[in-house]
Amino acid sequence: MKMIETDVAIVGAGGAGIRAAIAIAEADPTIRVALISKVYPMRSHTVAAEGGAAGVIKENDSLDDHFADTVSGGDWLCDQDAVELFVAEAPKELIQLEHWGCPWSREEDGSVGVRPFGGMKMERTWYAADKTGFHLLHTLFQTSLKYPSITRFDEFYSTELLAANGRCQGVMAIEMRSGRVHAFIAKSVIMATGGAGRIFPFTTNGAIKTGDGMAMAYRAGVPLKDMEFIQYHPTGLPGTGILITEAARGEGASLTNKDGYRYLQDYGLGPADPWPRKKAMELGPRDRLSQAFWHEQKKGRTAQTPHGDVVYLDLRHLGEKKIDERLPMVRDLAISYIRVDPVHDLIPVRPVVHYTMGGIDTDIDGATSLDGLFAIGECACVSINGANRLGSNSLTELLVFGARAGRGAAKLAATAPAPDMEGVQEQARAAEERVLALFRRADGGESIPGLRQEMHDTMESGAGIYRSAASLLASATKISALRRRYSGVALTDKSNVYNTDLIQALELGAMLDVAEAIVAAALERKESRGSHQRLDFEARDDDAYLKHSLAYYSETGDPEIRHRDVTITKSQPAERVYGGAGK
Ligand SMILES: Cc1cc2nc3c(=O)[nH]c(=O)nc-3n(C[C@H](O)[C@H](O)[C@H](O)COP(=O)(O)OP(=O)(O)OC[C@H]3O[C@@H](n4cnc5c(N)ncnc54)[C@H](O)[C@@H]3O)c2cc1C
Repeated sequence: MKMIETDVAIVGAGGAGIRAAIAIAEADPTIRVALISKVYPMRSHTVAAEGGAAGVIKENDSLDDHFADTVSGGDWLCDQDAVELFVAEAPKELIQLEHWGCPWSREEDGSVGVRPFGGMKMERTWYAADKTGFHLLHTLFQTSLKYPSITRFDEFYSTELLAANGRCQGVMAIEMRSGRVHAFIAKSVIMATGGAGRIFPFTTNGAIKTGDGMAMAYRAGVPLKDMEFIQYHPTGLPGTGILITEAARGEGASLTNKDGYRYLQDYGLGPADPWPRKKAMELGPRDRLSQAFWHEQKKGRTAQTPHGDVVYLDLRHLGEKKIDERLPMVRDLAISYIRVDPVHDLIPVRPVVHYTMGGIDTDIDGATSLDGLFAIGECACVSINGANRLGSNSLTELLVFGARAGRGAAKLAATAPAPDMEGVQEQARAAEERVLALFRRADGGESIPGLRQEMHDTMESGAGIYRSAASLLASATKISALRRRYSGVALTDKSNVYNTDLIQALELGAMLDVAEAIVAAALERKESRGSHQRLDFEARDDDAYLKHSLAYYSETGDPEIRHRDVTITKSQPAERVYGGAGK
């Protein structure tokens, strides 16, 4: 085992992790930062973001409006102090990115262009064509290269946190190229490992989004917050789950059912106003649109395909010039993956798991209940997304809270006591032994793909767009059985060099723990709010459930669910109204 001493260890080199690293380097260039990532940074999921990043910039817009859209979009489960801070910091961070070289798309007059996005009642989404994530991550990555204090550990897979005397003092990681286990000893650790969409079978999420960081914090005793809220994006390509960005609807695309009818007008999302339109209908929030699909399917008004039922996204009226200028990747993806050219044809689409609103419980500075541990980005729950995230808020969230946690970790590095070397080394040896033990496991007849498939099936059938006590109980029983059976998985590949068998086994372990928290939290929330829709409790119940859920890990039993009040500053819960009609 190799020991590496550093000041701050960041796990994850997506948008959130790199933004934090830059903030630390800017605060104090003498602070040593270890930036650990299981993939090369530019392969982090942030690179796949298409549509844009929200921040108030135009004169007709206001911070109050961004706040109001975010809070009602989140069905009042957001912590409003966090949202206030978020909307205020957002424009500064996006302008900072411009100064670092991000090529934001422009209006005719040269000012920054903004496009409409779902649930945002005003155009406020900055974009770089439909490759925003690529440009954003590239800008951050190239900026980070300026700072010698940031040392990268690419293709290192983190397995667990090191904590001694009630403080987080480091993190373990396997160098995938050699199989060698490393212990990073640090004054603080920032978790920036992204979401967990891969727990579900049909998702827009890259293969690396397996909830590793959530599982690491959870096992270390930090609760996972609001895990029942899983976002379905209404427009994924059938078969692959590849995303067709909401920017397509922002630019004017319509959604129709198999009869060519713009069905969203039947679901309280406003009238089918003629093109060009500005509000609701196709620009309603994602939870509502995905739920409308489910109802259309029940009514037999979706079209059947070999890859499941679909509705259609119609871009044809936008014309080739606009599609090529604003949505080139949408055209590319549709032609490459399903042989449909949106200039001439309808794109078949269906809802697809896209985003985990919940995550590691943090305060407004990204700090967790474990001293020395921060969490940011999609693996964290601050919470600004509440029960339903608005598209384009999360790229901005990476920047705002990444920078904030970075500054917090820098401060801690100056004041934290020296690590308890003896305690940490002992823990590190035990952690290494847990990895080595995987190689010695007897074959219990279980396979990684087999267990993963069973997990996928039960999560989709039990904890999908609509849930009930019966479906969730069945999933809870199944997931806890899968967790037991997981100990019967043996590695078939015993080599040290890029052992994907080992990594997939560890990822499956993380996903099963996180899946269990999702199902347990969903069972406890006996109401319908945002993306969490219970067939047996159809109404939102503010008296009982205007609360965050906190899932605590148990190695043997079920997770324990506790609750915490939501922070309300200036917006009392009300009906969510879109396009002039509410629900
Ligand atoms: C297809 C798609 C399109 C999207 N479009 C938009 C959009 O237009 N606007 C918007 O606001 N949001 C969008 N989102 C959401 C947004 O992109 C993500 O929430 C965000 O990029 C997550 O960033 P992150 O830094 O938290 O994590 P990621 O970018 O996912 O990075 C996670 C990092 O953690 C590392 N990691 C994970 N586990 C380990 C481990 N065990 N050991 C070591 N390293 C590890 C990975 O290597 C990676 O570097 C989109 C998401 C998808 C999937």
